Amino acid sequence: MGILCVALFWGVGPGLLATILSCVTLIYIYLFPVQRGSTVPPSFDWEVIIPVLLFAIASLVVVILIGQREAARRQALQAKQIVQMHISDLATANQELLQANQLKDLFVSIASHELKTPITTIRGQAQLALRRIGKNATPSPELNDLQDAFVKVDEQTKRLTNLIDELLDLTSLRSGKQVLDKKPCNLNEICSSAIEDLRMISGRTIDLDLPSSPVLLQADAARIGQVVTNLVSNALKYSPAASAVKVRVEHDDRVARFCVQDAGKGISPEQLANIFQPFYRTSDARASTISGTGLGLTICKDIVQQHHGRIWCESTLDSGSTFFVELPLSPTAK
Ligand code: ADP
Repeated sequence: MGILCVALFWGVGPGLLATILSCVTLIYIYLFPVQRGSTVPPSFDWEVIIPVLLFAIASLVVVILIGQREAARRQALQAKQIVQMHISDLATANQELLQANQLKDLFVSIASHELKTPITTIRGQAQLALRRIGKNATPSPELNDLQDAFVKVDEQTKRLTNLIDELLDLTSLRSGKQVLDKKPCNLNEICSSAIEDLRMISGRTIDLDLPSSPVLLQADAARIGQVVTNLVSNALKYSPAASAVKVRVEHDDRVARFCVQDAGKGISPEQLANIFQPFYRTSDARASTISGTGLGLTICKDIVQQHHGRIWCESTLDSGSTFFVELPLSPTAK
């Protein structure tokens, strides 16, 4: 018991010393009980030595076991300290990243606002010049060149305006500055209204398949309308002009789902993995004259996720793509 306490409190070394001292004491007491003070040499009595040996072995085993336990405890303590150090390092790094991200959002927001005003002025001036050139009754080669130049200025500033608007939209969505205005709304109505507008603007065939009963959501109708418009606009942009785009709304007892299907070129699996990343455009889109910023799907994903829904795309090369959006049904609709 004493050895156990020594090993427990002071460690293996003192435990071993205690074992040796105990054995020596036992041998001294039991081996020379009567010979003490006598000149007769000690006789080795195995009946005494064997129990002392057994005691020594048992004590050694106990000390070694305690030593191992102690070493494991110290290792665990060390590991815990290292983990705690890493946790605090990670928390600091996370805080720094968060601050850097906020700074980036602030920078993007200020830069976009500062750019928006001059670009709007440039575009306005270009459009004014185009109108004046258009009114000129006597066209000349110089005037035609000037018109071409202003058309280019108009096109490029329109692209820049779109980019700035989308950047501002994404930053405000991500910064949490813009809170979603969630109210009870009907997905059927949102889709019908968005598609009616797009039919008029594009003159294309857009088939809409709606369920007979309303599909009720607790959502920001304007933002969901933005997702529908973006997906259908993409379907129109990236598919042949003669092909139809199909939109279908459905639901089960848990979620509402709408899908937008086109008969375009499709997207390869490697590119499909990236299409929701900011500024990503497929090689086909970049090589084409179709303009785009690569931000539309990122914004859609953010909006859908802020509604606790999910968005994904299934695509087959040369057959077309289908984008799916799933949103939780309004609790009152279940
Ligand atoms: P963009 O402004 O370029 O259209 P998006 O974020 O809306 O940006 O889309 C990202 C990219 O995903 C597009 O540039 C295009 O390459 C690809 N993409 C999106 N929708 C479709 C689609 N219906 N068919 C084929 N490719 C698509």
